[in-house]
Amino acid sequence: DSIDIANPVRTQAILNQYGLHAKKKFGQNFLTDSRILDEIVAAAEVGPDDVVIEIGPGIGALTEQLAKRAKQVLAFEIDPEMVKVLSETLAPYDNIEVLEKDILEVDLKAILAEKFGAGQAVKIVANLPYYITTPILTKLLEAGLDWENIVVMMQKEVAERLAAQPGSKQYGVLTIMVDYFAKAELAIKVPSSSFNPSPKVDSAVVKLTPTKPEIPVEDPNQLFKLVKGCFAHRRKSLWNNLKQICVRNDADKEKVEQVLAELAINPGIRAERLSLKEMTELYQALAKASL
Ligand code: SAM
Repeated sequence: DSIDIANPVRTQAILNQYGLHAKKKFGQNFLTDSRILDEIVAAAEVGPDDVVIEIGPGIGALTEQLAKRAKQVLAFEIDPEMVKVLSETLAPYDNIEVLEKDILEVDLKAILAEKFGAGQAVKIVANLPYYITTPILTKLLEAGLDWENIVVMMQKEVAERLAAQPGSKQYGVLTIMVDYFAKAELAIKVPSSSFNPSPKVDSAVVKLTPTKPEIPVEDPNQLFKLVKGCFAHRRKSLWNNLKQICVRNDADKEKVEQVLAELAINPGIRAERLSLKEMTELYQALAKASL
């Protein structure tokens, strides 16, 4: 049996063999700790019926562990040099497909429909490139996929935002989006020594498990558009942000004032005070008032 990729000596040997260094611009920090990989795969409960999406396979440490347990792994990697390495490191596995693509540019829903048929449930597992953690999570949540869970490594600062309480510094658009779809838990704390090279920030693996929102809306992305608008200038009042998004004339102004009064929301507060439920009520009331 060959040695797993996630091993400090083998990881360095692979990088040396290909004359590669971890690239900062792609957020490359390779996991070399097999214990952490086992915990990630266990948290995602990956089994033989699962289709798993991985973002940023790197040299394949996590991909390999996923492939050993899943039916199929589909991985997106932006760096052509990694894709070349993967074609060799992952050669022993016939249930992995690597697409050389920028995850932020792909139409995930269309690709999944093409590869597995429309509506295929997936698990999403990744050691994310930290420079784009928030855009990736946003994209995953807005893509309208049928996901069974999302288990992803990120910097601790972002992990803390996912389950933040209204009114706290960490609370924001991402918190509300996550709250709409899921329960977020801190699954694993990961020391910097588990990577080559060691990231300069603390890391954590977060697990998102789908939940039903208290107030479902027809198009959650429309709700999120309002939320983003309300947080556009975080330190300004809710009213000042709403003015930018939906007030074109005096009649609109009156309508918005009335909506806020009916919901007993003080226009002078900041958006960070509003829970998902309150945001959703605001969204529905504005829509009803054709704003
Ligand atoms: N999964 C590997 C591991 O755990 O050792 C590597 C993780 S590393 C933190 C992040 C990976 O994401 C790198 O391989 C990097 O090249 C890749 N990546 C960065 N930006 C990306 C993007 N926009 N789309 C797809 N992959 C990206």
